[in-house]
Amino acid sequence: MTDLTSLTIAEAREGLASKSFTARELTDAHLAAIEGARVLNAYVLETPERAREMARAADEKIAKGEGGPLAGIPLGIKDLFATRDIRTTACSKILGNFIPPYESTVTSQLWRDGAVLLGKLNNDEFAMGSSNETSCFGPVTNPWRREGSNTALVPGGSSGGSASAVAALLCMGATATDTGGSIRQPAAFTATVGIKPTYGRCSRWGIVAFASSLDQAGPIARTTRDAAILMRSMAGHDPKDTTSVDVAVPDYEAAIGKSVKGMKVGIPREYRLDGMPAEIEKLWSEGAQWLKAAGAELVEVSLPHTKYALPAYYIVAPAEASSNLARYDGVRYGLREPAKNIIEMYENTRADGFGDEVRRRVLIGTYVLSAGYYDAYYLRAQKVRTLIKKDFEDCFAKGVHAILTPATPSAAFGIGEKGGADPVEMYLNDIFTVTVNMAGLPGIAVPAGKDTQGLPLGLQLIGRPFDEETLFSLGEVIEQAAGRFAAPRWW
Ligand code: GLN
Repeated sequence: MTDLTSLTIAEAREGLASKSFTARELTDAHLAAIEGARVLNAYVLETPERAREMARAADEKIAKGEGGPLAGIPLGIKDLFATRDIRTTACSKILGNFIPPYESTVTSQLWRDGAVLLGKLNNDEFAMGSSNETSCFGPVTNPWRREGSNTALVPGGSSGGSASAVAALLCMGATATDTGGSIRQPAAFTATVGIKPTYGRCSRWGIVAFASSLDQAGPIARTTRDAAILMRSMAGHDPKDTTSVDVAVPDYEAAIGKSVKGMKVGIPREYRLDGMPAEIEKLWSEGAQWLKAAGAELVEVSLPHTKYALPAYYIVAPAEASSNLARYDGVRYGLREPAKNIIEMYENTRADGFGDEVRRRVLIGTYVLSAGYYDAYYLRAQKVRTLIKKDFEDCFAKGVHAILTPATPSAAFGIGEKGGADPVEMYLNDIFTVTVNMAGLPGIAVPAGKDTQGLPLGLQLIGRPFDEETLFSLGEVIEQAAGRFAAPRWW
């Protein structure tokens, strides 16, 4: 029955409807696959009883003809989403064994539509990272390896567990979050599809906050169509999140296969970096040619403030993080270290509970928000953010429908290979993705090819606010042209 795990969500939906197999069989196949792939460390918590129970309920509903749009589809959930009665840690020691008494809006919508919870997925601690190496549960291994090599590679981050699990067939799709690239970069590293929706499209309620003005939830799946299917259930207005926008959720799947004839696709000149690997350059122009062949018009565009995006992001994101993480004080959640008095208790708890990268962000964030430095750093970064947003607005005002860029500056790298001595080396991974968060726009990463070592590479499409549909249509063109890649199984 293990071949059930290689189906797409769209195929499984059909198989369930035609009674070729049951939701219970589909779930059991995935639970077995998870058991056989623990070496990847993609799951930090497996919930087989809950999964079987949900699958049984889905089968009952399907039998009565009442199955929702995701009835019986087994999913993995990033451990940043609060799941009622199920441990949620953000992969930080400081949350300890936190068991939320509530469910995040996004996951509750998935269960409403009939999806099945397989377990919680690994991520960088508090979603801070680009390699999933900052998790308190240890790193995740990418199912992809360089040709002829056994070196363990990172799956990207922060949604590394989500990307690895989807690529290794350990779930049919996964939730993820993206503050600066955490959906799109791991998707590119694992030949999966990941979309960061427009800011405000998915509710942030019940998702552990990193940088609230940048955080957005989205799906990682194996095809553009599957990502569209998941997005429809995840998106929607939520009065519990004041930044969630009250715009009707379209049928994203209807955008798959829609003609892209006459669409204007911008190629931003500032994304052509000095010293960019030739294979990334090649992938990018290949992708542009595929879109052109499908009838899109390519135009060169300029996003002049691009080079300030990364430094500005690494001021804004830590600033918000330092404020959001102030709540982990040993009083209300998780870990509490013993001490003589309350101040010492705060200090001990935070010193022991946060990992190095999180601590670095809290220090940077506190510094840039402090009196005397606020104007020089934080305010300045906010101004840069406005200019970045305006760059995109100017571009879209000229009739551009979407912008095509590489998703990452390289393919997946080895565990322990980057950022050890210099954290900026790791931050550079986000060079093509952070602008999108700074501007609040939707962005999708789709697998587009491989590098010379056989590792997957992705392309990114950036869209107008609330026009995810165009991204799905264009993404599908790339997927069709590039073909689908699956990691050879070695585990
Ligand atoms: N890699 C980026 C960071 O470390 C983005 C992370 C994310 O999108 N959550 O901040």
